[in-house]
Amino acid sequence: MRIEFLGTAAADACPDPFCECEYCEAFRKAGGKSIRMRSSMLLNDNLIIDLGPDLLVAANRRGTSFAKVRYTLQTHPHNDHADPTTMYMRSDDCLPEGLVTMTYALSPAAVDVWDHVMEDHHRSFREADVQARHHIEIVEITPWQAFSLGPYEVQSIKASHAQPELQAMLFAIRDTRDGSTFFYGTDTGPLPSDTWARLADLGWRFDLFTLDHTRGFRSDLPGHLGENGFMAEVAAARSAGVIDTTTQVIATHFAHHSVFPHEQLAERCAANGYEPAYDGMVVTIPR
Ligand SMILES: [Zn+2]
Ligand SMILES: [Zn+2]
Ligand SMILES: [Zn+2]
Repeated sequence: MRIEFLGTAAADACPDPFCECEYCEAFRKAGGKSIRMRSSMLLNDNLIIDLGPDLLVAANRRGTSFAKVRYTLQTHPHNDHADPTTMYMRSDDCLPEGLVTMTYALSPAAVDVWDHVMEDHHRSFREADVQARHHIEIVEITPWQAFSLGPYEVQSIKASHAQPELQAMLFAIRDTRDGSTFFYGTDTGPLPSDTWARLADLGWRFDLFTLDHTRGFRSDLPGHLGENGFMAEVAAARSAGVIDTTTQVIATHFAHHSVFPHEQLAERCAANGYEPAYDGMVVTIPR
């Protein structure tokens, strides 16, 4: 599986365009990997995680379209992960060409948010002709559900993020063509203690493990992790056996107020035994 980090920031991005804090000024001065867009991921060339507001810039940066992406997983409908303009750009209103129909797996709560933000003639994304107009087929999923998406086996996991009724999820993904496995975990605080054991019992062990590091080197907050919380989850995942010595561990979803420019960040993370992601980072598993 080829995994590309399209964006690696929280909602406020790095730098925050309306901020002149010491961190944002340092990101601007450093440039390159210190500049981060809102989080989303591309798996191989056919699965996107989260229709975030910076997909357009990511596509331009790659010099490609996402017209042929067949599958999308939505972690949750916060607007840094689900932006109405992404759905508008793939609607018939915008006359897109070459666009394939995308199977879009998301929670019932996320469907409700799309219905509200799109105000599609006061219709619902649950109606077939509305889906056809956006070239999507929705599949409603909830936390702790196993399902298939084309060649991928997916297990949704309940995140500790926002109100429970938002049904925020993390994902375990296996590419059945080569058996490679990936854990994607932005937007969560400390997880219930049985989370990793439950994944182990379901037979999961990860080649690549990514997790929320929104709070940088500050303390965890409900809904997000900082350095200490990140390391505690990695240790718990390791003792449950879903992470082992061959697993690549990567932190992502950084916020401007709590993180260093990339080089300094990479040194600090390396001392802790993991790596920070950056926009455009590509990881191929198995290595
Ligand atoms: Zn987020
Ligand atoms: Zn700032
Ligand atoms: Zn969120």
